[in-house]
Amino acid sequence: MDKINHVIALTDIGKVEIEEHPMFACDPDKMIIKTDYCALCTYEQRVFSGVHKIELPLIGGHEVSGTIVEVGKELQGKDFQVGDKVVVGVNISCGTCYYCQTGQSQSCPNFSNLIVQPGAPYPGTAALMEYQMQKPQNVFKYYDVTPEEACLIEPISCVLHSVESADPQFGDYAVIIGAGMMGQLHSQLARLKGCLTIVIDMNTERLKLASELGASHVIDPSSEDALAKVMEYTHGRGADIVFDTTPAAEVAQDAMKYLAFMGKLVIYSGIYPNKKIEVDPHLIHKKAYQIIGSANSSQRDFVRSSKLLSHRLINVRPFIEGVFEAKDAQKAFETAPGRFRNIIHLHF
Ligand SMILES: [Zn+2]
Ligand SMILES: [Zn+2]
Repeated sequence: MDKINHVIALTDIGKVEIEEHPMFACDPDKMIIKTDYCALCTYEQRVFSGVHKIELPLIGGHEVSGTIVEVGKELQGKDFQVGDKVVVGVNISCGTCYYCQTGQSQSCPNFSNLIVQPGAPYPGTAALMEYQMQKPQNVFKYYDVTPEEACLIEPISCVLHSVESADPQFGDYAVIIGAGMMGQLHSQLARLKGCLTIVIDMNTERLKLASELGASHVIDPSSEDALAKVMEYTHGRGADIVFDTTPAAEVAQDAMKYLAFMGKLVIYSGIYPNKKIEVDPHLIHKKAYQIIGSANSSQRDFVRSSKLLSHRLINVRPFIEGVFEAKDAQKAFETAPGRFRNIIHLHF
């Protein structure tokens, strides 16, 4: 094992630095994972740009793939072996609260992005480290796909949770607002659940991609009447489910207009900047709408997302825009494409 652990730390707004820290020893109940790839999510981008203000330094990164290089004494001969290809997740829920104990760790009230991970010099989800130490509860195997693709199992797991929260049925019409990676994943996963998907976005290239990835219809509201089109494609009834994957409060308010009777609106994205929206409580009553929030994912979501990707029922390759070596991390952050992904190869 190397004596040095390289980390990519966010040291100031707009600045990341590669630092050398002493390598840690493996706890008996954990394993050491050598990181392969880490994607830069909107969370890291918001911290980097200063939109999301937190104390620095911080080590970000939570969309990650790696390889097990050491298994702690207590875990030997069990489920994980040196050489296993894995992803890491759910490492920021507490594991002991009501929600964690009932298998709903995505809603852990003790969830924090600012916990200091085992072996990490600073707070943060800390996947942007050359080596990380993890409990087996947070480690999930994957097979037959590249580590570049596998680092996107975490976002798949969050979208899987979101899609299931609406309990889609075969033949349901699902409108997806936003054709960034999260919107595209919603379209793919809703389709796997038997939905006919309609994707709305103003970016024609991304709409084209949504069609290639299986969306039944796409709508560009800058040149089409989106509501009229949704009504046309749903034969006058509206959508059974609307997934809003955009961070704009106005869009969430507007999204309800697409709903059919008994329709469900899933608010998937964090709202930046956040503000109050108006809802019509009488309409919710009369049309029996459901408004559902979804954030994060659980162990079960991770396991199933890994299987979906490993068997190639989901395609994430189009979402990887840039692949950077660790030494170019600053550039990877500066050019991170918002709704798609730059990924960093964490080999030093
Ligand atoms: Zn993420
Ligand atoms: Zn918890």
